[in-house]
Amino acid sequence: MVRLVEPPQATVFPPPGVRAVVFDVVHTLVEPAPDVAVVYHRTALQHGVNLGPAVIRDRFRAAWKRQEEIDAASRPAHATSRSRETERWRRIVADVFPGTTAAEAIFTDLWSHFGRPDAWRTLSAGRDLLLAARAAGLPVALASNFDERLLGLAGQLEPLTLADHVFASSEIGWRKPAPQFFRIVEERLGLSPDRLLLVGDDPLLDVSAARRAGWHVRAVG
Ligand SMILES: [Mg+2]
Repeated sequence: MVRLVEPPQATVFPPPGVRAVVFDVVHTLVEPAPDVAVVYHRTALQHGVNLGPAVIRDRFRAAWKRQEEIDAASRPAHATSRSRETERWRRIVADVFPGTTAAEAIFTDLWSHFGRPDAWRTLSAGRDLLLAARAAGLPVALASNFDERLLGLAGQLEPLTLADHVFASSEIGWRKPAPQFFRIVEERLGLSPDRLLLVGDDPLLDVSAARRAGWHVRAVG
């Protein structure tokens, strides 16, 4: 007897019962282009600091992780604010360029760079899911640990412009993976967790955090 191998089940998107689709932003819908290390390198050069992109990449990773650990260890964990989010980036830049008097000037330039739409490019996998959610007639929201610069970008950068709601951690007061982040989004959308789907790239901040909150999840990237 010949056994036919069943093809993998196509995942229905959006799944039945979902009433709104919420998208992470960075590395889900858009990513920096050129990448962060190249932008840091070029910006630092303009201030007379020459550090190679490979070193920058390593230091950036470590600096990012350090800030995540600070937020995880604070009480309450992952609470944030506009000033904390600005401080996070100031400290990351200072850690990438230690002992540099130009660090504050480099930080200021980088802060405005990543607030501009031309610093980003669209990721087609995420965009296609966003378009599918809209085609299904569902409201679409952005929910990001990116700070209030997201509010400006969302008005100018495809496909963020298609979102009906924008939730930035600095404005919500909590960062993912805090359960409070998800509760506030539920309240603002007026939907229970089982009616919500998060699309995101990060295994911890998006996928497991949303699952813990009782949401549907779709991993990308
Ligand atoms: Mg992300």
